Amino acid sequence: MRVLLVEDDEPIAQSPRRGLVRYGFEVERVTTGGAALAHEGASDVVLPDLGLPDADGLDVCKALRARGDVPIIVISARSDETDRVVGLELGADDYVSKPFGVREVIARTRPVMRRARRWPRRGKGRIPAIGRRRVRPLAAAAARLARTPALSGPACEGSR
Ligand code: CA
Repeated sequence: MRVLLVEDDEPIAQSPRRGLVRYGFEVERVTTGGAALAHEGASDVVLPDLGLPDADGLDVCKALRARGDVPIIVISARSDETDRVVGLELGADDYVSKPFGVREVIARTRPVMRRARRWPRRGKGRIPAIGRRRVRPLAAAAARLARTPALSGPACEGSR
């Protein structure tokens, strides 16, 4: 499982990165919002810090969500509840507040990823680089539906 950590602060990034790796996650880290949005590889979950040098983390969150259905867990150092609420409204799946422990991140990541696999979001426009792999299960489900006899064209028309 691949995690994209978006955090400019090296000491803060170190601990969750080490912990996630120890728990079997592959961790890639970028330090800016621009780099997060330019990131090419598919990620299973994105952890954007809200305080980034080049962009507001909330805008990064919004842009990621507009592009696809990758699970997002916002990292918030801000004490303001409003930021966390806005993050969730912009499409984040959950948030962790700094300082946080690795086990908390993992405890929040796993259910978010499970939900994303079970209920992929639909109709989000073009296929994004991040979260590209979610498209395949959805296409497979559509193909299965199309093969269901009750839903195929001629059978439906014939039964009227
Ligand atoms: Ca930061």
